[in-house]
Amino acid sequence: MAELEGPEFGKADFVLLDEVTMEQFLENLRLRFSQGRIYTYIGEVVVAVNPYRALELYGPTAVERYRGRELYERPPHLFALADAAYKAMKRRAKDTCIVISGESGAGKTEASKYIMQYIAAITNPTQRAEVERVKNVLLKSNCVLEAFGNAKTNRNDNSSRFGKYMDINFDFKGDPTGGHIHNYLLEKLLLGAPAALLASLHLCRDPCAYRYTQEGAQGSACGDDAAGYQAVEEAMAVIGFSPEEMGSVRRILAAILLLGNVTFVAEDETAAVEDAAQLSALAELTATAPGSLRQALLTRTVAAGGGELIEKGHSPKEAAYARDACAKAIYERLFCWIVGRINAGIAARGYDARLHGKSTVIGVLDIYGFEIFDTNSFEQFCINYCNEKLQQLFIELILRQEQAEYQREGIAWQSIEYFSNEPIVELVEQPHRGILALLDEACLAVGTVTDPLFLASMDTRLGRHPHYTSRKLCPTDKTMEFNRDFRIKHYAGDVTYSVEGFLDKNKDTLFQDFKRLFYNSADPVLQAMWPDGEQSITEVTKRPLTTGTLFKNSIVALVENLASKEPYYVRCIKPNDQKSPTLFDEERCRHQVSYLGLLENVRVRRAGFAYRQPYDRFLLRYKMTCEYTWPNHLMATDREATQALLEQHGFQEDVAYGHTKVFIRTPRTLFCLEQERAQ
Ligand code: ATP
Ligand code: MG
Repeated sequence: MAELEGPEFGKADFVLLDEVTMEQFLENLRLRFSQGRIYTYIGEVVVAVNPYRALELYGPTAVERYRGRELYERPPHLFALADAAYKAMKRRAKDTCIVISGESGAGKTEASKYIMQYIAAITNPTQRAEVERVKNVLLKSNCVLEAFGNAKTNRNDNSSRFGKYMDINFDFKGDPTGGHIHNYLLEKLLLGAPAALLASLHLCRDPCAYRYTQEGAQGSACGDDAAGYQAVEEAMAVIGFSPEEMGSVRRILAAILLLGNVTFVAEDETAAVEDAAQLSALAELTATAPGSLRQALLTRTVAAGGGELIEKGHSPKEAAYARDACAKAIYERLFCWIVGRINAGIAARGYDARLHGKSTVIGVLDIYGFEIFDTNSFEQFCINYCNEKLQQLFIELILRQEQAEYQREGIAWQSIEYFSNEPIVELVEQPHRGILALLDEACLAVGTVTDPLFLASMDTRLGRHPHYTSRKLCPTDKTMEFNRDFRIKHYAGDVTYSVEGFLDKNKDTLFQDFKRLFYNSADPVLQAMWPDGEQSITEVTKRPLTTGTLFKNSIVALVENLASKEPYYVRCIKPNDQKSPTLFDEERCRHQVSYLGLLENVRVRRAGFAYRQPYDRFLLRYKMTCEYTWPNHLMATDREATQALLEQHGFQEDVAYGHTKVFIRTPRTLFCLEQERAQ
């Protein structure tokens, strides 16, 4: 039992709690956190508390302790989960995925990096050069993505402002041969990120000199810029960015900053650029013609009747708005281009399924958790919708998986009551009737539909929905504003959203003039970012899909993809808002345990069997604990031998015998067996 944990360390699996109550759950979590035991199981789910300090848990010795072991043989750890996913993939040729969830600052990204690090450490024993290259690119990609996609927020100094799903492909030997990254909804006004990044790329000595980085610069430590710069450059080089491409990236970033400083004045009712010098610098950085650049900034082309095109001048306010939309779009497309470039570097090369057998996949999902801010806008709405979908999948898969396995093995199944968030998902995504559909309808309507009008239309059409309310529908509720706020009862709690900006953010208008301008840039990177710049204005009148719809489609595809794989879950918890390694804020933790549905998860797990294993593997591990099975049993089947073993230990009440596997109800039995084994 040396390897396992004694009772003084709390329960290694929440299934072992005497009673499944919030109080007991929190007490166990607190006790373990105070001892630096940040990982605890619920069956095969890892619950992780952010320690906010460096723990000696991830070095090469730790890797060796977990390598090839079964989940219960060692104290709970991310490595054990990564190993389980890896084994399922390798032994059974199953595609698996590891879904990491939790709120901002809970430790998702760190967890995803430890998992990747573990997989990299246990693969490619023969040091094949191509596999090493792929592993290197996969590991380095984090550094680059973080440089461009993370920002300091008031919740997390290094907050991922995009969702990431990374597939790692393995060959029949179990070695990584490639991968693919999907990114989801980058929060576009990344004020903090460019400040740090640009400083690190030596573009921006004084972030306060640029309007777009002033805010991020305040209080953000740019101390280790030189080191950061080195790391990003080196990572980009390893991934395969050419020096020319790196040059383009730097110029594009500089252009974004300069663009932010362009100001407009009124000249005969229309806008003019205040400082012409800025324009020529911008034209040089973007390799565009100064005349075309000026025109794109100050006017837009509209299709008049009869296929005629006219130039319409912006007012200074419109020009400023278009400028910011343009800067955000460049940043977003640059980010997507970088992801695409990384994907090109890790695309599984020369893999021929006929020669090498089926390639299997482990996917790792690190995606923004549920968010409730003081003011919640369109971004929070999208993020929380995504979390509803993932929660739905979590419950469904855990239940469905259990049920299916019991049926296969011929074991009786009792159905379990659980909260279904289906109605909330429907409220958001239902065609024609859901919030996203109503939002699209408002965006497409001719004439000026305003945010408050959109709210009014939701009130009329969704007023009866049990999960929707607004101030108009509930006039006494002073926590909401008239004509501005609506509230959704999410599974994780009530969230009040402000409709302000919903229409604009959903439409995400970027004038075709900009797209065309950059498509014609002499800089190949900038040009590659705007494939849609080629369209003519008349073609473009067909509206592009809205941000909301694109996001919904990407999340639906993600969920389908995850549902086709064998899932493993990491549920991250943030112990306090002060980033303290010692403070366990009970209220904050209670809230997270509650909305992550962890108590329900324990109940589902306890209602069924916590552990199962094929008879032969079970015997291989425990046969030394019983005289009938050591060194080899003489019974007709492994099943009978397993039965004899378990009965000798007095565990017959806690087990069931399936066609091919033994099922054990509580982990306690398993821990006892492990103890016997160690003696
Ligand atoms: P976001 O949703 O904002 O991206 P996140 O859940 O990805 O948040 P991380 O960036 O992974 O959060 O973690 C926040 C910080 O917490 C890290 O920068 C690190 O300082 C600390 N941290 C998280 N996990 C660990 C760990 N296992 N060991 C030590 N420190 C950790
Ligand atoms: Mg993160």
